[in-house]
Amino acid sequence: MNIDTYGFIGLGNMGGPLAGRLLDAGCPLEVFDRDEAAAARLAAQGATRRASAIELADSADTIFLSLPTPEIVRQVTLGADGLIHGKRVKRVVDLSTIGPRSAKAISQALAERGIVYVDAPVSGGVMGATRGTLAVMVACPRGHYDALESKLKQFGPVFYLGQEAGLGQSMKLANNLLSASALAITAEAMVMGVKSGLEPGVMLDVLNAGSGRNSATQDKFPKAVLPGTFDIGFAAQLAYKDVRLCVDESESIGVPMIVGAAVREMLVLTNALYGEAADFTDMVRLVESWGGVQVRQSSP
Ligand code: NAD
Repeated sequence: MNIDTYGFIGLGNMGGPLAGRLLDAGCPLEVFDRDEAAAARLAAQGATRRASAIELADSADTIFLSLPTPEIVRQVTLGADGLIHGKRVKRVVDLSTIGPRSAKAISQALAERGIVYVDAPVSGGVMGATRGTLAVMVACPRGHYDALESKLKQFGPVFYLGQEAGLGQSMKLANNLLSASALAITAEAMVMGVKSGLEPGVMLDVLNAGSGRNSATQDKFPKAVLPGTFDIGFAAQLAYKDVRLCVDESESIGVPMIVGAAVREMLVLTNALYGEAADFTDMVRLVESWGGVQVRQSSP
């Protein structure tokens, strides 16, 4: 008999649909988010609401996290009212992107209280979270992976990367460096093409049939740039956090990142110009403003 009870903290763009998938798969869930509306949405889908992280940690064995930054994950896990002080929690499954150094530090601190940290960042965006097609990158003791695998598979294909906390994060940072760089360089190529007189829809067709194709030409430009919606659902400030963490981590282990540092600065500018609510794809608007043209679908 499975007597484990499951909790979920952080019910935003990613955590909301992921928690919903666990509920749909028949996994009862206790939830907490500091945003009342986000918690209410999950309660309407059948989850039990808890008033705080610590209250949840008093009643759930395994707690999933999908939180914005390393600082917030530290506060929710190790802070004065953090999960570490919970009476029941035995396992924290962190789906957030926080970088390998934070993952290792949190894992060590939790281990001192007998709580296992499962490093499990994800990639594939809001659409992937909704459809259950995310890549899930897991590092934790093998027995815990085996115990969790069926739940993690609700999110998408799962990759076991090893025992050590931080391996999932290193994999995730490598992925997001590529995703952000693809968007930045595609913005430059598309703005150059449009200013030269090419039609953007045709450009994407050619690129996607040729060697220039990437996640921006296949996904982000058709969905959020050509229609001018700039709403892929990944905040520019979170993309900046990921690239910053990647460049910092890389420098700390002696691998220079010249292109990565340039992409990081483009995200700094995107945030400065378009504000806190900026979407990741607003990076394209930056290049458009420099080039003086817009990359939009002129005909349906
Ligand atoms: P989000 O901002 O949409 O959601 C975060 C949620 O956490 C919000 O509902 C917020 O209210 C809640 N929260 C913040 N601080 C809290 C606290 N102290 N206690 C309780 N709840 C708190 O972010 P998101 O886009 O869902 O991203 C979550 C994580 O997943 C991030 O680490 C991000 O880098 C990563 N990620 C995002 C995407 C994406 O496409 N959005 C893709 C892969 C990974």
